[in-house]
Amino acid sequence: MSEHTPRINSSRLRALLDGVNAFGKNPRTGGFNRTGYSQADMAVRTWFMEEMRRDGLAVSRDGVANLFGRFGPRGGPSILVGSHLDTVPEGGAFDGALGACVALECVRAMRDAGIVPAVAVEVVATAEEEGRFGGMLGSQAIAGTVTTEQLDAAIDADGTRLSEAMKSCGLDARDALTAARAPGSVAAFLELHIEQGPVLEERGIPVGIAHTVAGLVNLAVRLDGRANHSGTTPMHLRADALAGMAGIAHAIPDILAAHGGENSRITIGKLDIQPNFMHTVPGRADFVVNIRDTHPARIAALCDAMRECMTAVAKANGLGCTVEEHSRMEPVALDPDLTGVLREEAARLGLAALDMPSGAGHDAQTMQALCPSALVFVPSRNGVSHAPEEFTDWPDIEQGAELMLAVLTRLAAGSPTGRG
Ligand SMILES: [Zn+2]
Repeated sequence: MSEHTPRINSSRLRALLDGVNAFGKNPRTGGFNRTGYSQADMAVRTWFMEEMRRDGLAVSRDGVANLFGRFGPRGGPSILVGSHLDTVPEGGAFDGALGACVALECVRAMRDAGIVPAVAVEVVATAEEEGRFGGMLGSQAIAGTVTTEQLDAAIDADGTRLSEAMKSCGLDARDALTAARAPGSVAAFLELHIEQGPVLEERGIPVGIAHTVAGLVNLAVRLDGRANHSGTTPMHLRADALAGMAGIAHAIPDILAAHGGENSRITIGKLDIQPNFMHTVPGRADFVVNIRDTHPARIAALCDAMRECMTAVAKANGLGCTVEEHSRMEPVALDPDLTGVLREEAARLGLAALDMPSGAGHDAQTMQALCPSALVFVPSRNGVSHAPEEFTDWPDIEQGAELMLAVLTRLAAGSPTGRG
């Protein structure tokens, strides 16, 4: 068969995505439950591996249950393309699964077009991206950034240890340390993902190309006041921990206005008050301030401003205040050359593509430590994700998939950036 221009087969892609989403569906809510190393997660992996095997790909599974399906030469570096198959609890049909399915559909389209790649293309379906045990474990294992301490400390919300969960799937958590791909064995990593935000839809642009993935810092804050009777304690004699928390939350927009930029985000998403009773002044508040930005210096400035604000508000409310940094992820700049190839191919296809940061974390940011990595977004209806209502229009998916296919075809034909 002679080579011709490959095209995405939309109905085949849809059937593949439906196949993935036959696993872990809650018929009552419409949500999907394939949390990392759950039964449904492992079952979908077995199914997806079989799909790739039927396509004639060289299929393998590593120690953390990342799946690989290799198309093209057995030896030499490969271009990895894919995303994760796990979901959050009650997640949507597109987050992660779409990127893995688009990757396999691209390979099917290349094969159908008679393309014989000079550089191998490897479909990858990563494991535990969504964070049952912290997140991005699969891509961290591939990139070789997993630590023993991380594996030992990882525990889910129900108190199940990562090692126990993996053992029940026939896996050994320590194998995460030996799953690393050799530097140089991966020429590039490409991921298509839903935007999970409203920007593309609002601007009517079908495709986003991420240049940076925002970093984050979580500050765990504890305010100590005095629990006391809500009827007998005069307002001016209170040390109300919740009032302090509210003062801090109220100051966030001003802090952002003074120290933030267009990609700055500060959120208090987790709060616990004690004793949490309707007739008692809250004596203690524990909450987490999540600070995100695409620039390290701005994250630092926002952290400083928040700490200053918390100290002042605590003092004004007669509260003790302790702040602990819980987690920190630096912003990651994705590969400018690879991003440039995406932009060029989008232009060649006549596709409007928006240069944008990613506010959410993705496997691509982890993979950038190993190889040039890039991230393509397709729009999310109403910006919704991590919910059953998550949806992307099929014409948008097709355009994103065609872009991925064009880039893969170009890279598979030659040098890492396709310019050789
Ligand atoms: Zn995702």
